[in-house]
Amino acid sequence: MLNEVKTRSAGINDPVCGMEIKEIFKADKLEYKGKTYYFCSTLCKIQFEKEPEKYIKKDDGNEHHHHHH
Ligand SMILES: [Zn+2]
Repeated sequence: MLNEVKTRSAGINDPVCGMEIKEIFKADKLEYKGKTYYFCSTLCKIQFEKEPEKYIKKDDGNEHHHHHH
């Protein structure tokens, strides 16, 4: 079995448009709440800065939302 060199592109995606970031060192990045996010373009970064929660929320799909008083 060959050891594939796949670990380098660990599947980092632009949280805004979903595009895969292939060259992290070139990408626009932003740190938010201790995590670093990468963007394909400054445009996406700006979008993210406007409503970061909107794009991050995709991550926690496990939680059920309950409305309580
Ligand atoms: Zn993008």
